[in-house]
Amino acid sequence: MTYRLQGIPASTGIAIGPLVRYREQSAQRPTPRCDAAAVIPDQEWEHFSKALERSREQVTLLRDKTAAELGQEKAEIFASHLSILKDPEFLAEVRRKVFDEQKDAVAAVRETGLMFMELLRQLEDELFTGRIHDIEDIVSRIVQNMQGTGDESIKLEQPSVLTAVDLTPSQTAQLDRSMVLGFVTEGGSAVSHSSILARSLGLPAVVGIGPLPEIVDGATVIVDGNSGVVILNPDSGVLSEYEEKRKAYEAELQLVKAFADKPSLTKDGLKIEIAANIGSIKDLEGAIRNGADGIGLFRTEFMFMDRTAMPSEDEQFEVYKHVLERMKGKPVVIRTLDVGGDKQIPYIRLEPETNPFLGLRAIRLCLEKEDLLRTQIRAILRASVFGTLRILLPMVATLEELRRAKTIIIEEEANLKKRNVPVSETWELGIMIEIPSAALLADHFAPEVDFFSVGTNDLTQYTMAADRMNRSVAYLNRGLSPAVLRLVDMASRSAKAHGIWIGVCGELAGDPEAFALFVGLGITELSMGAASVPRIRSRLAALVSTEAAQWAERALRLESAEAIHQYISGVIG
Ligand code: PEP
Ligand code: MG
Repeated sequence: MTYRLQGIPASTGIAIGPLVRYREQSAQRPTPRCDAAAVIPDQEWEHFSKALERSREQVTLLRDKTAAELGQEKAEIFASHLSILKDPEFLAEVRRKVFDEQKDAVAAVRETGLMFMELLRQLEDELFTGRIHDIEDIVSRIVQNMQGTGDESIKLEQPSVLTAVDLTPSQTAQLDRSMVLGFVTEGGSAVSHSSILARSLGLPAVVGIGPLPEIVDGATVIVDGNSGVVILNPDSGVLSEYEEKRKAYEAELQLVKAFADKPSLTKDGLKIEIAANIGSIKDLEGAIRNGADGIGLFRTEFMFMDRTAMPSEDEQFEVYKHVLERMKGKPVVIRTLDVGGDKQIPYIRLEPETNPFLGLRAIRLCLEKEDLLRTQIRAILRASVFGTLRILLPMVATLEELRRAKTIIIEEEANLKKRNVPVSETWELGIMIEIPSAALLADHFAPEVDFFSVGTNDLTQYTMAADRMNRSVAYLNRGLSPAVLRLVDMASRSAKAHGIWIGVCGELAGDPEAFALFVGLGITELSMGAASVPRIRSRLAALVSTEAAQWAERALRLESAEAIHQYISGVIG
């Protein structure tokens, strides 16, 4: 029987091969009860300490192996495992369970792990999912070391597609690339560490597929990491369809890879900056590997999210400095804090709002809680001397907001200079064009900034009055609507009239059709997920800018996103 299942696409590519199901031991397994009278705490603690030491050695080896094979930043995952193995609160809780509650060491570690995982789960934030898996991974490692079940790596006898309830980052990092064609997990999310590792390993992966039917090992499975589709026992027609897709994907990949270190030029020689969006320093490696011309959007809010307290000015400074230094003079757009809406920070207490996307978000919040912005601006300006800095203000709707933010920036710059702290003389200031009012007033904004960056995600959401998180109205957020295109055109004309540059950093910048229309409208910078950089660059090389301008003219007169899609896919070829 054929099964067609839909999961979350976690790593691109298509894998076809025999299925092997990995049946793992889980940290969540019920704890076997132990007779408290038989527990000798000192012995249990010693047992635990030895397993802890062994685990630290194993993780250190794994960290060094990952650093050598995948680079320093991927190895950070295991550095974070090491930090859990040294975490004083974690160790104190295990100790308390052993000595005060007379638990055996295995139970003490499992229960402590479950307690920490539960605390993270209560935060109900996808960003913490990775941390939950890290703890689960560490707990099973310590337990295995205590029980002597040892080696957790997965051994395969022939090239296969692996399926599992879940894979820990350690298991993923140790997968033998010559044997694993791809993997499917019942749980997991696209931002979990194993998904991140799968992307670095170039392994097609689909996660969060839900319970898999009981199928014998060896059955054929197709994993489409591009769409999230998994097909078990495909018939011969489907099999050859996917064989073709796999070949086409691999051929495109080769072509596209060749563009990672090419200049970003249209066929007629127009230079367009193709930059990468990042959310943390972990994304930098991908930006560099894919040959991004710069960082077009550093969403700094993620640095504020995965933690329990505000990052200090110095901590922020170190991060911004690192990004600017690693980009070696290529421009880096650092966007000031954009929280609120779907991005909440536990330690910034916000009043509950009926419409968070229309509420105290981004620059509005920063102007209300000025200290937040002042601290961030000081950290950014201090880092400015380490590269080419561009500061970007999110969600600006009025001139007054821009002017208030500018005053703060100028005051902080003057204070730094007074204290003899070096600040670059050449940093630029820009605003996001992501609220229709900013696009409509672009002619007023343009004389007061150095650049515009269009956020098509929010510009679409606010133009269409359709919540970007609401599936029921997803049809209004899909594609490039002519209404949004007209607003981009307006902003672009104002930018040109005042001699400033304009970029696009929303998802549509990396869209293989929409990017051409943006180029046609005079956009000179496109910033996207790093993996899209070579693909868009290869398409740019085939684009004639004068033709793109004609297509944009025509698209502006069309009546719907669908009509634009039909039109552009016809002309772009
Ligand atoms: C956008 O709105 O298009 C954008 C780039 O910002 P974010 O997705 O972070 O809201
Ligand atoms: Mg936005």
